[in-house]
Amino acid sequence: MILKQGAPDIMFEAGVKDNYCFRCGNKNKELFYKYYASYYQKDVTYCLFCINLGRSDSLNPLYGYQTIRQQEHINYRLDFELNDIQKEASDRLADAIKNKHNLLLYAVTGAGKTEITFQGIKYARNNGLNVAFVSPRIDVVKEVYLRLADAFKGVRIDLMYSGVKSVFSNMFTVCTVHQLFNYINHYDVIIIDEVDAFPLPEEPLLMETVKRAAADDASIILMTATPTPEMKILAGKDNIVTIARRYHGHDLAIPKIVWDNTEKYIKKNKIPLKLKALLDDIAEADRKVLVFFPDIKMMQKTAVLLQEKYRRLESVYSGDTKRYEKVQLMRDGELDILLTTTILERGVTFLYLDVIVVDAHRFDSASLIQICGRVGRKPKDPTGNIWLMTTFNTSGIKKTLKVIRAFNEGRTAL
Ligand SMILES: [Zn+2]
Repeated sequence: MILKQGAPDIMFEAGVKDNYCFRCGNKNKELFYKYYASYYQKDVTYCLFCINLGRSDSLNPLYGYQTIRQQEHINYRLDFELNDIQKEASDRLADAIKNKHNLLLYAVTGAGKTEITFQGIKYARNNGLNVAFVSPRIDVVKEVYLRLADAFKGVRIDLMYSGVKSVFSNMFTVCTVHQLFNYINHYDVIIIDEVDAFPLPEEPLLMETVKRAAADDASIILMTATPTPEMKILAGKDNIVTIARRYHGHDLAIPKIVWDNTEKYIKKNKIPLKLKALLDDIAEADRKVLVFFPDIKMMQKTAVLLQEKYRRLESVYSGDTKRYEKVQLMRDGELDILLTTTILERGVTFLYLDVIVVDAHRFDSASLIQICGRVGRKPKDPTGNIWLMTTFNTSGIKKTLKVIRAFNEGRTAL
């Protein structure tokens, strides 16, 4: 079913009852708010977990529609041919959908994951199955939507994320995970891209939301370069497909370690010498760079220092209102240096890109692997430089090197 305010049918007499929210499945007592409504002369409880979609409370019913399933004969076109490894993964994914089981696609960054799903999506829609392609990240949702719309020409695809709702049929949807709150037992195929990205692992309730939105015999397809043990369990050990090679066939760049106490310089309002040397080398080679920082404060301090010397430089973080504009400037080649927090660790591709991580000892391996994955994504620029600046070695740094080396040897470090 699909919940929607203003729809004709009552799906639940009330949104909340006995500390359970019928919309999002929240049953955590602390995530409800209770107050006395003098007008009704009784207590009213509402759910805090899904409040962004409007209030689900103990007073008002939830309205909606029953799920409709309808065949649609759709097709897609690719500008390139899948290589043998991608083809095999694409077949396995389509099989999982046909046989109604889950699948984990464990693929190196830049493996061409999105295109691997097209065959399965086509099968699903041609057989009347409802499909959702979701991600925790808005950037990823936007990018995936563009690629699907480009390949499935003329097919109507719903797009939903915070503030944007363009819905045609609820049968083929691209959206953030949070948008699934309004769907119960509705989607027969749910593909989750960047499944380990914030806030999915930190919010177990969100994974419950995915499962609630899924029909009883749905296939959930998990896609990531950095899987967690829970994902392997959800997929089942026989349902893991690995891709250790990028689609262009080149090795992943191996990060270089730069020993430096960068923070010491920044605290004294001085440009870290080793950072400056790297930035000058990158400029000399006529390349661009993303510089990752573990926190906003440190990044902003460094930005002020660097802006005196480097003109084509900007910085971005999640709350930055000009975030998408600045990323576009970088894409258009108008910037040489973009300082960033982990918000750009995935979902972005820039040409001729190198990467520097400041205080790499403060990042975990999942983050570092994603960051390294920004480099060398395009066939015309298949490699690049990655520098991890760090005061000391950590298990996160060691694991990153181990995983990347294993990928290059054609293995996965699962
Ligand atoms: Zn709720």
